[in-house]
Amino acid sequence: RTASAYNYPLLIKNLLLYPVVDNPDQEIVYRDLYRGNYRQLRERVKRLANMLTGLGVKPGQTVAVMDWDSHRYLELFFAVPMIGAVLHTINVRLSAEQILYTIDHAEDDVLLVNSEFLPIMEQIRGRIDNVRTYILISDDGMTECSTIPACGEYEQLLAQASPEFEFPDLDENTRATTFYTTGTTGMPKGVYFSHRQLVLHSLGLLATLGSSTSHACLHRDDVYMPITPMFHVHAWGVPYIATMLGVKQVYPGRYLPETLLELKEKEGVSFSHCVPTILHMLLKHPLAEKIDLRGWKLIIGGAALSRNLCVESLRLGIDVFTGYGMSETCPILTISKLTPEMLELSHAEQAEIRCKTGLALALVDLRVVDSNFNELPRDGVSAGNVVVRSPWLSQGYLKDHKASERLWEGGYLHTGDVAVRDELGYLKITDRSKDVIKVAGEWVSSLELEDIVAHHPAVAEVAVIGKPDEKWGERPLALVVLKPTEGTKVTDKEIAHHVREYADKGVVSKQVVLVKVKLVPSIDKTSVGKINKVALREKYL
Ligand code: ADP
Repeated sequence: RTASAYNYPLLIKNLLLYPVVDNPDQEIVYRDLYRGNYRQLRERVKRLANMLTGLGVKPGQTVAVMDWDSHRYLELFFAVPMIGAVLHTINVRLSAEQILYTIDHAEDDVLLVNSEFLPIMEQIRGRIDNVRTYILISDDGMTECSTIPACGEYEQLLAQASPEFEFPDLDENTRATTFYTTGTTGMPKGVYFSHRQLVLHSLGLLATLGSSTSHACLHRDDVYMPITPMFHVHAWGVPYIATMLGVKQVYPGRYLPETLLELKEKEGVSFSHCVPTILHMLLKHPLAEKIDLRGWKLIIGGAALSRNLCVESLRLGIDVFTGYGMSETCPILTISKLTPEMLELSHAEQAEIRCKTGLALALVDLRVVDSNFNELPRDGVSAGNVVVRSPWLSQGYLKDHKASERLWEGGYLHTGDVAVRDELGYLKITDRSKDVIKVAGEWVSSLELEDIVAHHPAVAEVAVIGKPDEKWGERPLALVVLKPTEGTKVTDKEIAHHVREYADKGVVSKQVVLVKVKLVPSIDKTSVGKINKVALREKYL
């Protein structure tokens, strides 16, 4: 036996071994347009591998995709890395210019484009230098188009390709995926992950989700549907885990609340994940009161979950819990799981715990440190910077040596987030370090203040930013969107009064009383639906 036989590599292809043998008939669904199973997934992945290699794709080359969440995207999640190429998941919500920048920067060789994005291609075609091969994806039978020089349509090319393919044993450190951060400040930055990292992220996340049978768990009988896009941090890596477990998977295409809720009901979806904005949008939809949402396990991440939204979800029977992470961390670092005793508490009490971001996953060394890198006490009040090590963190930013060095200063990845930990070790993100508001030298958490303001019954949405102030250095400015029905009744003074009342109870930093409130028609969001504080500062400061 050779040493290499012992060093069985951690490869994405091996995630596919078990479900295909053990659960071949389990379904994989795309809206009402495709209904297949794991046996077909395996076959289509092999056909896709033949199709891509037949088109000349070589190991190390980059295959980029512009598609909504679909069974095709799942096939690409596997086939592209499995032939040794790199999958670039293009953020289709970026501007056309930013998309062009990422196609160029990642040096994409092949580009698969859903016909819905041809208008974007129209704006940038003629300026793409590196792409050699285009493939059209279509849901409506379109097989040709004049916007891109496509060599064919996905389904047709797949049908022509052989269903036999022998996937090589690659080095587990081979790059598997790359994608770009949302680029709220300047041009987007590319991050990248290897086979080994994606496999270990899957195992680490599964160790947490698999360690219980009722709350915050994913198991064989679940039905999975992503509601954070597959282009953004591999839909938090959950499609890989769902496939590894052989669960039924449902891909919803573009995120329309009605479609999502209908699929939830029709397909029996029991496990999903989304950002708070989408949860808010789903619960506001009239269908939310009509269909049975009980038992839906929903990871909320990407931004802080407000207690209000959490309580409202619990009232509808949704098992809502938070996850914390970022593009640079593959992404998941922590998950808020409740103990059986905690699950006996009232919804309001549970919300306090569920809205914290919980405990680190297996294999994650996460610390909250002061400016000298000393770990802070777990007392629920000492706020510091979150730094982390784990086997699935981006080595750095693509072709940006300086930013990569800053990211990894001192041997830990700097998340740029500020947090506290309670006595049980539960992490609570209080801010991004660039959003912290410094009032008279003291840190005021914008997320905490947003949560307090959101508690006022007339408030639909809120974002808090720091406004320069001669006397205090900075004062919090709360930008508030009122619920449509309350529009004429509630004033900015009443909202500020609500914050002061809250502060009088002594549960938060005294400095929050310095808040100024401004009623605004809407709050700017980033391409993935998060509050865009950079844009808000430009507008209101
Ligand atoms: P981008 O950085 O492009 O906005 P990311 O998805 O990488 O996109 O965002 C990661 C950031 O989102 C984290 O650094 C953190 O500030 C915030 N975040 C993620 N999850 C949570 C959470 N559960 N609670 C509060 N903030 C969160």
